[in-house]
Amino acid sequence: MKLWNHYYTPSTVDEALELLTRYGGNARVIAGGTDLLVDWRAAMTDPAKAGAVHVQEALIDITRIPEMTHLADFDDQIVIGGGVTHTRIVQSSLIRQYATCLVESCGVVGGPQVRNVATLGGNVAHALPAADGTTSLVALDAEVEIVKDGERRWVNILDMFLGTAKSLVNPARDLLVSFRFRKTKPGEATAFNRIMRPQGVALPIMGCAVWIKLNADRTHYDAARIVLAPVAPTPVRAEAVEAALTGQPIGDDAIERAIQAAHETIRPRTSKYRATADYRAEVIDVLLRRTLSAALARVGVESPSVLV
Ligand SMILES: Cc1cc2nc3c(=O)[nH]c(=O)nc-3n(C[C@H](O)[C@H](O)[C@H](O)COP(=O)(O)OP(=O)(O)OC[C@H]3O[C@@H](n4cnc5c(N)ncnc54)[C@H](O)[C@@H]3O)c2cc1C
Repeated sequence: MKLWNHYYTPSTVDEALELLTRYGGNARVIAGGTDLLVDWRAAMTDPAKAGAVHVQEALIDITRIPEMTHLADFDDQIVIGGGVTHTRIVQSSLIRQYATCLVESCGVVGGPQVRNVATLGGNVAHALPAADGTTSLVALDAEVEIVKDGERRWVNILDMFLGTAKSLVNPARDLLVSFRFRKTKPGEATAFNRIMRPQGVALPIMGCAVWIKLNADRTHYDAARIVLAPVAPTPVRAEAVEAALTGQPIGDDAIERAIQAAHETIRPRTSKYRATADYRAEVIDVLLRRTLSAALARVGVESPSVLV
């Protein structure tokens, strides 16, 4: 079955937008196609979804747009185009140094073939609460540059998600152009870990990204951003866990308080493909211990509670 009539590779954001406008909602943005084409194929073979796949007048491939495939730092910020692949992020020494959690997230997406074409923009625009790149971008408190209804603006990453698989960006009309976030400074660190089914190739049972900032003496947590995913229909910060850490002396007690806060406030759901709610709740302990310990090690603090 033919799924589209025309395929375009614009070389500027304006050209891509002009094409989207010209097709008036009958075109679709495509990047690596690792979510889009897999979803279409699944819908075509599922009788319950018959009719859900329509022939698109046009696909607008954004991967040849230099503004959307650049990766650079400006002063204290890093900017990553929405069309940058996971492989490029994994290979970036800049991101490894200043946003390590993102390298760790992107490095576990699919296998090498998927990472070579799949993009960070596609990971976020697809709007799944378990998406690995998204989990770390939330911990980094990233902002997203979008063009929506003809207006270009920056929004906080959490404002990108309207529901499961529902993004602020309508991929038939709008564009996700780039991401930006602050580099980690001395005394700050990030880490990402996930628990996955042994033969799993897609989304995790549970992922965890953390950003921590220690006080000048590196004895206490000054601030923390903690993301456990998926625990809600959209990506969320684990605010009770963050509060349990903030101001606390570094040590096993702080990590135990964080785990307790997670158990009191977070209710993962059962997924028939991945794990039961109980199992997911159980692995939160392991993930928080491992990921906080990894971040502490990166700021030079002997980890109080490493669990390998
Ligand atoms: C075998 C396999 C394993 C996978 N494993 C993982 C995994 O471990 N972890 C994980 O998180 N994901 C995984 N994925 C999912 C997928 O690879 C990622 O979500 C990937 O980042 C999607 O990027 P893409 O460029 O392929 O997006 P596409 O499929 O091209 O697009 C996804 C959606 O976003 C829209 N879109 C894309 N770019 C833009 C843009 N710039 N502006 C506006 N709309 C846009 C598209 O129209 C579409 O709706 C896996 C997929 C496969 C096939």
